[in-house]
Amino acid sequence: MQISYKILRIAIYSLVFTIGTLVLHGCCTGVQKELKQESAQKTTFDINKVFEKKSVVPIAIIGGGPAGLTAAIYAAPQYDTVVIAGGAQASALTGSHKVENWPSLVDSGVAILAKIKEQDIARGARFIDQEVQSIKLDESPFEISLADGSKIYALAVIIALGSFPRKLGIPGEQEFWGRGVSSCAICDAMFYQNKDVVVVGGGDSAIEEAIVLARFARSVTIIHRRDELRASAAMQAQLSGYSQKSLDGAPAKIKLMLDAHLEQIIGDKDGVTGIIVHNNKTGQSEKMAIDGVFSAIGRDPNTKLLQGKIQLNDQGYIVLASQSQTGRAQETSVPGVFAAGDITELRPRYCQAIIAAGKGAQAAQDAINYLEEIGFSMQLAQQLKERSK
Ligand code: NAP
Repeated sequence: MQISYKILRIAIYSLVFTIGTLVLHGCCTGVQKELKQESAQKTTFDINKVFEKKSVVPIAIIGGGPAGLTAAIYAAPQYDTVVIAGGAQASALTGSHKVENWPSLVDSGVAILAKIKEQDIARGARFIDQEVQSIKLDESPFEISLADGSKIYALAVIIALGSFPRKLGIPGEQEFWGRGVSSCAICDAMFYQNKDVVVVGGGDSAIEEAIVLARFARSVTIIHRRDELRASAAMQAQLSGYSQKSLDGAPAKIKLMLDAHLEQIIGDKDGVTGIIVHNNKTGQSEKMAIDGVFSAIGRDPNTKLLQGKIQLNDQGYIVLASQSQTGRAQETSVPGVFAAGDITELRPRYCQAIIAAGKGAQAAQDAINYLEEIGFSMQLAQQLKERSK
């Protein structure tokens, strides 16, 4: 009696596996979606390839910032999810000593990320504290090679590697980063109530940062290396309201210092106290007492690993496929590969932790939707998990 029950059970499992295999074959070889974008690639999906590999997971998330960690909150309860978030692929948020615009919590960036990670683990996510060395996106399961030489394969990948502010590369910048040197006025302006600050850069971001700072600071000086701003005419027009003396004779809030560059940032144990600024025309350098330096010289996306594998825009940010083509807001030019947060093309003013977190949640739901669409059933997910033990 017991033996026949065992046989029956084996027969049912085999039937489920065979049906699953057929469904996946049908869905994924027959109904291949081809994105109409120029660089769109075709992702083929073969269940036999999935089962012949070790270390295959339904969802891999690359990046340990708010986008990646929030994606894991949503993905992990549904499918076995690994988060690869080691070394330099951790988050820019770790540089914020006090985050005041995260809902319901004021804490350091490190503490906020640690709390989300705790939540991820409680919901079943597995963490790999390594850096990704390379990634292959031309066939599914996608191959992710790690720093220790091991490989992970994933049916859906969420890329949330963020972007990083360009650095001036001058003495004092690194030392005082997060202690008077910042690249985010929206995050830090309130710490400069009635203080004197400078913004470095001549683009739209520099002006936007200066305007945010002018709500709090006593004076804001934009220091730009050339004799004309790069910012759009519309942004420059916004500046005019701040750069004239007010009717009661109060000094202008935002001043322009053109043809100048910073040579050094000076400070003490409490943070920044001044800068040495060089006038490119006169060749003279002078010391200026100031309380904060906001660097707005552009950002670079962390997309080195992805060049030639996925559609990127001129500045190197990931282009998201239009929703009308895929129905999934965070899908990239490669079906099954999703992106969220500052690594995607976003206006710099939207480079905010909470926005990245929201996009991470979207990316996870898109990945789940994609797996369902290609026929990756819960039973197959369970089998995959059993095999990887
Ligand atoms: P950006 O346009 O590339 O401007 C960077 C600025 O930093 C330039 O003025 C550049 O000087 C200067 N710079 C670069 N490296 C420097 C260095 N090592 N030392 C000193 N100065 C340096 O970057 P962004 O302002 O962040 O804007 C990025 C994109 O987002 C742009 O397309 C912009 O239009 C857009 N954006 C739009 C809005 C909006 O519409 N509200 C707001 C923000 C940004 P040079 O001019 O000499 O090259």
